[in-house]
Amino acid sequence: MGTTGRSLFLGAATLLVCHAAPALAVTVPGRRLFPVLNRTPSSSAVALTFDDGPGAPTENFLRLLEQAGATATFFLVGERVERTPSLALEIVRRGHDVGVHGYRHRNHLRLLPWQIVDDLRRARTVIEDATGQPTRFFRPPFGVFTLTTWWEARRQGWQPVLWNRWGRDWEPHATAASIAQRIGEPEAGDILLLHDSDAYSAPGSWRKTLAALALILKQLEATQLAARALSELLLDPGSRGQEYVASPHAGQRRSRPAVPQAGRQHASTRQKEVDSCVCW
Ligand SMILES: [Zn+2]
Repeated sequence: MGTTGRSLFLGAATLLVCHAAPALAVTVPGRRLFPVLNRTPSSSAVALTFDDGPGAPTENFLRLLEQAGATATFFLVGERVERTPSLALEIVRRGHDVGVHGYRHRNHLRLLPWQIVDDLRRARTVIEDATGQPTRFFRPPFGVFTLTTWWEARRQGWQPVLWNRWGRDWEPHATAASIAQRIGEPEAGDILLLHDSDAYSAPGSWRKTLAALALILKQLEATQLAARALSELLLDPGSRGQEYVASPHAGQRRSRPAVPQAGRQHASTRQKEVDSCVCW
């Protein structure tokens, strides 16, 4: 290989490493370079998060959460919101948060930078149009960040969120008991990952997750831990995402502002919120 060939090879290798480096955010050292929320500062509640919806099963999860007096954060997939926008709105109406999980459920390591940017912007538009609310939280499909994913999430003003407990409920052999066992005994500040849809996992897996959720909620009740949406644990209610602080009301149910009519948010308003959001 000549000098030019070597330089090209090294350049391509460097680009590839930079592209994939934020994927390390799943590790403790990686989070120092690419800060991602995997716990909250709450001393009395855990954050329940659900990925891959909305879908027909979502209603079952909303009902169970309501019965338990719990709120959660649903990371929505844009292409699924397009199919059932009313479900996305219903999630917000019931007092839960929605976050962005991409427009399509693709591993970003397999996408080109402009495809990632397009996917995330499209997801934002679809989800905000359906819910009438600005999006503040982001979790990439499979929890995998690339450099482009990372910078675009920052540009959009989103708080990147991973988790520190999961039920591995997408696996074909998972059972309600195994999911609850994997979640273990949550502590205050934990972020739990479950799925309210089987759109990208084993068919019918949501039924096992739903049964596991009942067990997990009982466990939380026994240990006097509340289950709350991320915004209740992180956001100053008046700040609209500008400042992340431990809410003094964490662990208590608080009333939420009225949900505005779903509809396209004016572009300049949306950009203003992006520009003014300090999430790190
Ligand atoms: Zn997912």
